[in-house]
Amino acid sequence: MKAFVVKGPKEYSVELIDIPKPLNNEVLVKLETSGVCHTDLHIANNDWPRQPKYPMVPGHEGIGIVTKIGPNCKKIKVGDRVGIGYMFSACGQCEYCVGGKEILCPSRVVTSLTKPGTFAQYTIGNEDYVLPIPNNLDILGGAPILCGGVTSYKALKQANLKVGDYVAIIGIGGLGHFAIAYAKAMGLNIIAIDINNKKLESAKNEGAHYTFNANYFSLVEQIKSITNGGVHAVINTSVATNSAILGMSILRRAGKQVLVGVPPKDKNNKIEFPLSILATISGEQQVLGSVVGTRQDTKEALALGEKGIISKVGQVISLEQIGEVFEKLSKGELIGRAVIDFRINK
Ligand SMILES: [Zn+2]
Ligand SMILES: [Zn+2]
Repeated sequence: MKAFVVKGPKEYSVELIDIPKPLNNEVLVKLETSGVCHTDLHIANNDWPRQPKYPMVPGHEGIGIVTKIGPNCKKIKVGDRVGIGYMFSACGQCEYCVGGKEILCPSRVVTSLTKPGTFAQYTIGNEDYVLPIPNNLDILGGAPILCGGVTSYKALKQANLKVGDYVAIIGIGGLGHFAIAYAKAMGLNIIAIDINNKKLESAKNEGAHYTFNANYFSLVEQIKSITNGGVHAVINTSVATNSAILGMSILRRAGKQVLVGVPPKDKNNKIEFPLSILATISGEQQVLGSVVGTRQDTKEALALGEKGIISKVGQVISLEQIGEVFEKLSKGELIGRAVIDFRINK
């Protein structure tokens, strides 16, 4: 099969490799579509503290048809359409798994880090963790919901907002676009912030009520005046560390900043921002982390996707074009999500 293989940081090519074999409780999936997530680029380039094992096949937003089932597989059958997300599997027994927060399982297995990813004609999934795909979901626009979409949807859920509340979305990349789509569906007032005016324009077209360039000098004052004291929540998808400082400065009292975008590690191998202890205490503000989503969150995010709330795909590509997309992603030039369509033979 054809696969996009990464052999080291910035070292990748499309190659012919063996089709993986489904083991116990695993299924073989022939991919139809797969989104390209910023995380793929970070993992491939070893930008994060956790080192990948090369050679590897990235990709964790795949939709395809099960063509073979492994031993003891009882819940999934050949012909089923399934989604392969960021979480390949979890232990099923720990307090997080039992409590419906399996994404926090300390023994979770991540697609592409320890199991082959979805940038290939075939991949494998675990029968308990592949995601059912709703019948009427557009599988091209819907594939990125499996990571990008659910990540933004779950971050908004964490912020626990009410209809009419103000939410600032910092960083209008793939996650930011999803955050706008879901925030719109939730009836929120949306402020989009980025440093790229083209991205801000697309944010406006997709439903942001206000847009601001992060370099604009009176940004904080203007946002405080529009929102009468600051936003109820910030969904921070930016990969710039400073954006988290900006996020704190535009929160209203009791506001929450939800961190979802992971910047690359600094020269000390750390990813951090300075936080004012006094301002956090006196404003009773909260900083929350949000990592992807559970199977339940994904089900909800896909259900909203089936209702057509997700915007169009930024760019439909072939497996051979992932390298170009990685280039654009690293320069911050990709507008919307790139999705691989395996059904077209380019
Ligand atoms: Zn567990
Ligand atoms: Zn992802």
